[in-house]
Amino acid sequence: MPSNTSESSVDTPVLATLSPSRAGDFKQCPQLYKFKSIDKIPTEPTIFQARGTAVHLALERLFQESAEDRTPERLYDLFRTAWTELKKTEYPDLFETVDDERAWGIETLNLLATYFSVEDPTSFEPKELEMDLLVDVDHMTIRGILDRMEEVTEIGPDGAERTVLVITDYKTGKAPKEQYAAKAFFALKIYALLIQIETGVTPDRVRLLYLNGPTELTLDITDAHLDSTREQLAALWGAIEKAITTDNWPTKTSPLCNWCDFKDTICPAWEDERAAAGADA
Ligand code: SF4
Repeated sequence: MPSNTSESSVDTPVLATLSPSRAGDFKQCPQLYKFKSIDKIPTEPTIFQARGTAVHLALERLFQESAEDRTPERLYDLFRTAWTELKKTEYPDLFETVDDERAWGIETLNLLATYFSVEDPTSFEPKELEMDLLVDVDHMTIRGILDRMEEVTEIGPDGAERTVLVITDYKTGKAPKEQYAAKAFFALKIYALLIQIETGVTPDRVRLLYLNGPTELTLDITDAHLDSTREQLAALWGAIEKAITTDNWPTKTSPLCNWCDFKDTICPAWEDERAAAGADA
């Protein structure tokens, strides 16, 4: 994960780069951004993060195989290999028992089985996999890694065949409820903008592929989306710089706090609840 700040002196961090996921953190809650990107507070790895990392690696490697070898069995093998590697390096103490690890593995394999009901990986060749982007957007340095980009042939509204450029992001969690779906595209719209600036070609569509469900969410990209994403990025960049300068990081509570690593530990917004829970214990 790229660093979002650099130290120009011991006390004054300056925003150097911003990734789509860190921009999303700030949008969700400035204090969350501070904990992760300024204080860099380490968090305990979770089984959900491990699943996401191993599944992404297995799917990346699936597309490095020739098309006829992109079978479910091959994907399961690639997942087992990816997990063996990641367990050694990143998640050595994740599971207390072998049975816990086995149950997690079976659940993950079931998730991977659903992947084949959303798309046929033998039917196209990705143009890019794990594309590392470092792009200047109006003097802001934006960095991120895009899961996949491909061209897809389809029948357009006029009945004629056409080729569309699609960027795809895999998710191992559940799809958001309908009212939150638009927000889920925030990071992918930034990636669409980065691709446009970097290559001169505008992606036609962004696509979120939730394996848990499975659910596919798509959004056809327009110039208005990219203009507004550009404006939002500039506003966020300015707001982060201001927060750094003033050292003012408001908390923004929402249902998403329930998935935040800091709710039960150091987040000031939940201090009273933690104290009350401690008193009841
Ligand atoms: S628990 Fe909620 S308010 Fe606190 S840092 Fe996390 S997202 Fe922000």
